[in-house]
Amino acid sequence: MATLTLPEDSYRELYGPTPSYMPSGGWDTREPDKLVKTHCCFCGVQCGIQLKVKDNKVIGFEPWEEFPVNQGKLCPKGVKRYMQNEHPDRLLAPLIRNHEGFRDATWYEALRTTPKAIKDVQATYGKDAFAFLGGASMTNEKAYLNGKFSRIALGTANIDYNGRLCMVSAGAANRMAFGVDRAANPWSDIPLAKAIVLTGTNLAECFPILTDCVWRARDNGARIIVIDPRVTPIARTADLFLPVRPGRDSALAHGILHVMIEHGWIDEKFIAEHTHDFDKVRDLAKKYSPQVAEKITGVPAKNIIKAAEIWGPVETSMLLHARGIEHHTKGVENVLSYINLVLASGRIGKPGCGYGTITGQGNGQGGREHGQRCNQLPGGRDINKPADRQFIADFWGIPEAELPKQGLTACEIIDAIERGEIKGLLSISFNPLVSIPDSNRTRAALEKLEFFACIDFFLSETARYADVVFAGSLQEEDEGTVTTGEGRCVRLRNLVPPPGYAWLDWKIICELADLLGKGQFFKYRKPEEIFTELTAASKGGPIDYRGMTYQKIEQNMGVFWPCPSREHPGTPRLFEGGKFHHPDGKAKFHAYEYRPPAEDVDAEYPIFFTSGRVVSQYLSGTQTRRIGSLLDQYPEPLCEIHPLLAGKLGIKDRDLVKVTTRRGEMTLPAQVVKRIRPDRVFIPYHWAGKKAANQLTNRALDPISKIPEYKVCACRVEKVAEAPKAVTSLNGLHRLIAKTPNSRASTM
Ligand code: SF4
Repeated sequence: MATLTLPEDSYRELYGPTPSYMPSGGWDTREPDKLVKTHCCFCGVQCGIQLKVKDNKVIGFEPWEEFPVNQGKLCPKGVKRYMQNEHPDRLLAPLIRNHEGFRDATWYEALRTTPKAIKDVQATYGKDAFAFLGGASMTNEKAYLNGKFSRIALGTANIDYNGRLCMVSAGAANRMAFGVDRAANPWSDIPLAKAIVLTGTNLAECFPILTDCVWRARDNGARIIVIDPRVTPIARTADLFLPVRPGRDSALAHGILHVMIEHGWIDEKFIAEHTHDFDKVRDLAKKYSPQVAEKITGVPAKNIIKAAEIWGPVETSMLLHARGIEHHTKGVENVLSYINLVLASGRIGKPGCGYGTITGQGNGQGGREHGQRCNQLPGGRDINKPADRQFIADFWGIPEAELPKQGLTACEIIDAIERGEIKGLLSISFNPLVSIPDSNRTRAALEKLEFFACIDFFLSETARYADVVFAGSLQEEDEGTVTTGEGRCVRLRNLVPPPGYAWLDWKIICELADLLGKGQFFKYRKPEEIFTELTAASKGGPIDYRGMTYQKIEQNMGVFWPCPSREHPGTPRLFEGGKFHHPDGKAKFHAYEYRPPAEDVDAEYPIFFTSGRVVSQYLSGTQTRRIGSLLDQYPEPLCEIHPLLAGKLGIKDRDLVKVTTRRGEMTLPAQVVKRIRPDRVFIPYHWAGKKAANQLTNRALDPISKIPEYKVCACRVEKVAEAPKAVTSLNGLHRLIAKTPNSRASTM
């Protein structure tokens, strides 16, 4: 393709303007009225932070050094999280769509319009034609409420949440292997490990404060193995880096296990006494010699052997993974293959020995525990098990027959809207237009809805398609609990009231339930009452919070579940004494052959494509794209490409490139860097519209977890234009973009 050098204006036209954002601003030095101990609103570490409040505004922060997880430390997102509170884009009143766009509405109008529309949709098409989508950044209380509201007030089976795009492969694998879905260890165990495997986790950018635990382990003599197709920041500090070919993760795990078995670096006694099905895994691993694994994964056989040498014989070890191995059509199989390495070593359920899932969302753990998933009831109960259904039906005081059955997952709900089977939707704190793969299809689906209502604090890209938008609440405007990635339930504090006419989310849901004729089930006066009910509903379930109270959580700086009684101190470390949560107390090995991704490279699309996160942004960017100082760090998506591949395609740093997959294309500047494999390009996914990486990604789902295959598909890359002279660096690029006018709807 012929290329040309564009003038700056044309470059901007192609690349598009930037959304409005909060300027970086100065440090507010006023004496605060109060300093409140709470938690960061972003990732699943849930760092402790003290927020400063002045005149009912959050104006800054102080470290909370006593909170044991982060001990006062915060990452770049954490130190700026307070800035969202005063953002001019904050929704201050409900909005109703009219022929010109949105108009401000009264609560009376918004609340009357919505139940009527819900009833109309359900009367015409049936109960399940109205769906609910929740979020995993919300509190445990709201997650519980979402599930109860959907099943009792809406009477729909079709409720799911955005954690379906995030942690469900790990969750399913955890239940299959261990009988329970939680990290096995508190993070305080990480520094005690002598070998650490980090697989598919860009830890330093996505879960930054946890990096400190890994470095403390290294200071104590631990050796670190990082498995990833990119040389992420944590990979640069590893003792051994294995740059696996995209979508080949389980073959690498089998190869490492092969060497462990060959050298006797497995714990036969533990395997015999505490596990099932190792024979099947032994037979499987036999086929994956280091040479065979090298052929599939691209990792040299000698390094596969080296990984086994580091991991195999040590006394203590931890294995941590995240979306890199989970965002696949075989995400569950990948996780189970790495769990096999942990079980074979016998190093689990002891200090410094175990396993954990890195949860990306603020309440990634708690958000998946209390019943807002289509297949789950409160307490982690199974919606398909008669005894579990009866327990919850009795608890809620409804006939079991009225409790909806299992419904569709998040992506399946969007597909059902596309097919015209689901006609109405209520969503809260979920931005599917940015976060679900193949966003052009998601947009077309949203346009087909007969009625769509959103609850959110900013007008997200998805909310722009709604008929009614309810102005909801930010984390600091409400109270409740969240459960961190280590299984510690912590307390969030209410600092300031919602501004203008915005309402607390839980009150909006209760009000809607009342107007749908089910108010008697939602008589809460404060979140603590929802929490008390949630804990009672969890009693005796796989996820037992029964012994927790707000007071106990606060006094202990968090309580780990299971915590079955008021006297119980909580359970920081699971599986002590080799006791797993399957009925017979044993863990299970799982033997899955490696299989290729749903879409592999070929002559037409010869390059692997993958997406992920950058440190200054969070999920679909609804919050962080509005905080200027975070945007300054990484203002717009860039296409990471290796110099070898770039050279072959005639691409130089900051040239405009077009990336095309079978689903769409996007044009953006190239970032030529050695940190990526030469057979692959990477684009972060935090932006919307023409800047959305999810225009390209594949919606193929894992058959068990129903997670989409974000991490691998096939693309081609072409140079479109030379970078203009002004754009020679990220800062130059940002200066250029900063000249564009701010616009609320700029990215659509
Ligand atoms: Fe917030 Fe996570 Fe950063 Fe901690 S590590 S400050 S919880 S984004």
